[in-house]
Amino acid sequence: MRPFNYIVAADDAIAVNAASRDPASKFLAGGTTLIDLMKLNVSQPDQLVDINKLAHSDISSVNGGLLIGALTKNSDVVMNAMVQQHFPILAKAILSGASPQLRNMATVGGNIMQRTRCPYFRDVTMPCNKRAPGSGCPALTGHNRMHAILGGSDRCIAVHASDMCVALTALDAVLILKSADGERKVPIEKFYLVPGDNPEKENVLNPGELIVAVELPLSKFALRSHYLKVRDRSSFSFALASVAACLSVQHGTISDARIVLGGVATKPWRCQDSEKILIGKPVSAAAFAQAAAAAVAGAMPHKHNKFKVELAKRSIVRALEIAALGVT
Ligand code: SF4
Repeated sequence: MRPFNYIVAADDAIAVNAASRDPASKFLAGGTTLIDLMKLNVSQPDQLVDINKLAHSDISSVNGGLLIGALTKNSDVVMNAMVQQHFPILAKAILSGASPQLRNMATVGGNIMQRTRCPYFRDVTMPCNKRAPGSGCPALTGHNRMHAILGGSDRCIAVHASDMCVALTALDAVLILKSADGERKVPIEKFYLVPGDNPEKENVLNPGELIVAVELPLSKFALRSHYLKVRDRSSFSFALASVAACLSVQHGTISDARIVLGGVATKPWRCQDSEKILIGKPVSAAAFAQAAAAAVAGAMPHKHNKFKVELAKRSIVRALEIAALGVT
């Protein structure tokens, strides 16, 4: 690990001004990803701006929805009564990720900013376009069982690792970002970028810009939603495929739906074609199967992850079946 400056920010202005003055700065919250990557020399910031003293660790009710501070610990989100009552899929998704110890340290903002688990990315002896632009992508021809079948490019096929962000996307979450120029809001669906020619650019954050909160609008899916995660071991593992499935049902007919995939794509992957298929149809196995097929119609599997196409389809059907029952 190379030497770096460390400052503790007392307020938002100090944090964003310090980070904007030095583009090689990183914000430090729970540190559950960043410190690991610094030890591995994957991330080498000139400066760490510790934001743990900022006032962004509360959850409050706003117009029937929630405002979740970006420094709220993942475990505190899970335990919050409003989350459990109105956004149970969020609690379920967070609980399916990491270990209790990590959830006690990791923050909402840090979860949103977590990096891929691609093993080549984390090994500085290997080329990797995301870590060292232009160096190549060994995953394309190497071991790619865990990699993406949706949203990849010929430069990068790394999977987005978060469970929480898959649920946030299904819940139409909006991120509140703060910089030295002021505040702006970005829907989480537009926050992440697919790798294209520039896999090193993962989101729309500007240098020095900080996530300060997540807005969840009033949800119509509290009664019928489910987060399904399929992984190699149930105790603590990243997803081979995951699905956030939400249904709104009126008199047996689907009036609205969200289907978002994790573990198979380069960002939380919203399946809008599948949602359109479901809307207006009665709850049925045929509709679920049709929606699942549409979700993977554009899949581009690689040598070791062809199984993810069928796995994603079956996971979607299963998640929709459970959501339709009103079980979370
Ligand atoms: Fe790097 Fe992406 Fe290729 Fe992994 S998949 S080696 S992160 S460029």
